[in-house]
Amino acid sequence: MLSAVAHVDSFSRVSMGLNDDTVASQMIGPVVCVLTPPGRSALAVVGVCGTAAVDVVASIFCPRGPHQLCASKDRSVVFGRWREGGEELVVVRRSETDLEIHCHGGVAAVGAILRDLTAAGCRQLTPEDWLTESAAPGGFRCAQSIIAAEARLALTAARGPRAVQILSHQLAGSLARTWDALAAADAHELRTRIGRLLSWEWLGLRLTRPWRVVVSGLPNVGKSSLVNALAGFSRSLVSPVAGTTRDLLETRLVLGGWDVVLVDTAGLRSDAGDAVERAGISRAIDAAREADLIVAVTAAEESGTPADHRFHDHTAPHIAVVSKADLLPTGHRIAGSPAGIPVSSVTGQGIQELAETIIRAVVPRVPSPGEAVPFTLRQIQHLQDLRYSRGR
Ligand code: GDP
Repeated sequence: MLSAVAHVDSFSRVSMGLNDDTVASQMIGPVVCVLTPPGRSALAVVGVCGTAAVDVVASIFCPRGPHQLCASKDRSVVFGRWREGGEELVVVRRSETDLEIHCHGGVAAVGAILRDLTAAGCRQLTPEDWLTESAAPGGFRCAQSIIAAEARLALTAARGPRAVQILSHQLAGSLARTWDALAAADAHELRTRIGRLLSWEWLGLRLTRPWRVVVSGLPNVGKSSLVNALAGFSRSLVSPVAGTTRDLLETRLVLGGWDVVLVDTAGLRSDAGDAVERAGISRAIDAAREADLIVAVTAAEESGTPADHRFHDHTAPHIAVVSKADLLPTGHRIAGSPAGIPVSSVTGQGIQELAETIIRAVVPRVPSPGEAVPFTLRQIQHLQDLRYSRGR
């Protein structure tokens, strides 16, 4: 019987602390997964992996021509029909344990293939489980193709050109090349390389999740107007009546190329009018605790009056902003506490500077073009384990 050992690259085995016996003991039965998005399309791709994958597919697939699937070379493409007289399709033999069936993209065609394969003993996986199982120790893919698959998955969730650019570099091989180089590194070099990779953990894990920036301050200081000005469109309800924003309003936007959610909160006043407003304030406090950054707003006409931030436990970094700067006489310097970036949602003064300050605060440094950046928990965990086991 073919062994899964051949398909766990040697570095993965060494780095995962696996010998051939442990890998063999974890060989997987055939699994099947639809690799293309759900719904109709011109083509669909069904992946089949596992030690018996070739045998299972060969028991149903009828090649047209002399080439049998079992006797084909890796990376060969075999044309034929699914069952005698069935749909025409091609089977790509990626390796001894890894096949792709490229078929018509209709729901019925894919369904028939899945039915036949599961009846023949394949376990059907979701795309997420497919990725997780293939990446597990003893799984069926090598490090490079796992990283590429993870990058593809991450790219479907990434928003904003900066994250997409970094993930595209990882898809093109930046991380896999560095990963490979670790195999040959001595303990000192290994520590240095892994240290550099892990120094991007904070960024890598955020490439598929927006930064949360909470805008807080007393009622009526201009928080909603500020969110609108930053977003460039009217989203939050702006009203001269204090206490209007009673719930969290989230505005997701791309700021400086990065995915950001601005959270507009209820004004933090201690004499809240009613139960609904008090609930809004309570949610605002929770939101501030989970924030990556708090933009603390004080109105210019109230400068000198300390903003009411006693509700916060100040875990997230703050940027102080003085709003309604247009109400100040020309040349007036904002005195008193707290100082902050003067902005006006009416004239646009300071909005660009505020946007840049927000981005500098959440993304203080960026990788150089093409630099390796780990971007999944699996990768981070793996690097940490490797540093522990081999970097000493
Ligand atoms: P929030 O309760 O803190 O969200 O404040 P809003 O954004 O609802 O604004 C409260 C009031 O201040 C509204 O009447 C706005 O039109 C006004 N306002 C907000 N920003 C500015 C500004 O930059 N300049 C001026 N002059 N008025 C503003």
